[in-house]
Amino acid sequence: MRKKNNIENIPSLAQSDNILNLIFYVLQPIRNKINKKIIVTSGFRSPKVNFFCGGAINSNHLSGCAADIIPDGRNFREIYDYVVNNLDYDECFIETNSKGIKWLHVAYRKNNNRKKHNSNYTV
Ligand SMILES: [Zn+2]
Repeated sequence: MRKKNNIENIPSLAQSDNILNLIFYVLQPIRNKINKKIIVTSGFRSPKVNFFCGGAINSNHLSGCAADIIPDGRNFREIYDYVVNNLDYDECFIETNSKGIKWLHVAYRKNNNRKKHNSNYTV
């Protein structure tokens, strides 16, 4: 989203490159695996957008390396296991907010993937 609440949210060329890598190496493989649509609820965030949505100060969303997704069918466990066991990735977390809404946070960093995941999740 380019603007929300009149806050600019436009990625630079380098950040756009990160977004394309995330799509190519993580999001599209997930989509191919489940053969269903995935809803991206949050992608690139400018510092202001990240601040207003309560993102971590060093969030991968700031560089365009991360996306929060809700898969059609909400099969979080299947997708989490697929990413962790098959893809190169930086972060793969099942996250839940205070209202019980769940999403999958995935990130990809070119040449710097740490394979961080929350192995003690419950679904
Ligand atoms: Zn996220």
